[in-house]
Amino acid sequence: MFIDTAKINVASGAGGNGCNSLDRNLHFKHPKPNGGPGGYGGSIIFRADEHVQTLLDFQYKRHFKATHGSHGSSNNKKGADAPDVIIRVPEGTTIKDASTDLILKDLRKSGEEIVICRGGRGGRGNAPKKDALPGENGQERQLILELKIIADVGIVGFPNAGKSTLISRISKARPRIANFAFTTKAPVLGIVELSGERRFIACEIPGLIEGAHLGRGLGLKFLKHAERTKALIHLVDMAAVDARDPLADYTALNKELVFYSPELAAKQQIIAVGKMDLPEAAGNLKKFRKACRKKIYPISSATGEGIKELLEAVYKKLKAKT
Ligand code: GDP
Ligand code: MG
Repeated sequence: MFIDTAKINVASGAGGNGCNSLDRNLHFKHPKPNGGPGGYGGSIIFRADEHVQTLLDFQYKRHFKATHGSHGSSNNKKGADAPDVIIRVPEGTTIKDASTDLILKDLRKSGEEIVICRGGRGGRGNAPKKDALPGENGQERQLILELKIIADVGIVGFPNAGKSTLISRISKARPRIANFAFTTKAPVLGIVELSGERRFIACEIPGLIEGAHLGRGLGLKFLKHAERTKALIHLVDMAAVDARDPLADYTALNKELVFYSPELAAKQQIIAVGKMDLPEAAGNLKKFRKACRKKIYPISSATGEGIKELLEAVYKKLKAKT
């Protein structure tokens, strides 16, 4: 499991002070207390939002502070309440108190929310003929946010097929990854954004063929993660450098997948053939098409050719699965 984490500080606002004020109107025998109460300080509220995908933004902004309530004033006027600060996090975010490591809340569904630091109450004014009081303090907390990320689609293929190049071409953001020591290579996750707010998460499944099923290279943890993807992009190098045969690569990789993980092997594959910008590719593709007889997406991560069609097809497949 990939865990995206962030450590942040939050503070709610203090309540406004109650006002001490006397109305010295000459018609009154004694001056009349007329101080109003202070307003509420702003609270810190976390809300799950389906439009937020990662905790990446918390890399850049780690401090959140709500403002204080306004003080009360004479004529029994209440101070204004300060606005709450609403922090939007992805669905599935766990909020922990950093000092105790206790889970405060799992925000599962979009719209779900929790007040993490309540704003201070405003102090009483002296209008009820009691002394005015200061506003209550706000609260401060250090929090750890955690998000388990599961990729929707895994990219498999021989080393040098162009998996890393493809994922860096199609994704804009990359979540940071913590709690995950990887023996050979860091797994790469990317968020792929299509038009109209459509998106999915892709991950490269690296080094598959390098004795993967013998337990080398990839860790078990990563395998578990990959097995939760909904589909695979099987990337075949169509330029076939070093006199490789793309069709042999394709079948060999599928065989290796079975050894490596029957779960992965059973997943639906979208076949992408890469490096179509290279001169050998076109001829190889003709042969490959004849032998493979499946829907094939020719692409080039170098020129961008065919990428859009591939991503649309992946998205369609993922949609059909949910
Ligand atoms: P991976 O091992 O599958 O992750 O492969 P890489 O993404 O590291 O790519 C291996 C090599 O192929 C690198 O030298 C890339 O620059 C090259 N490569 C990847 N995609 C393309 C492509 O679409 N066109 C060309 N001409 N070269 C590519
Ligand atoms: Mg790679």
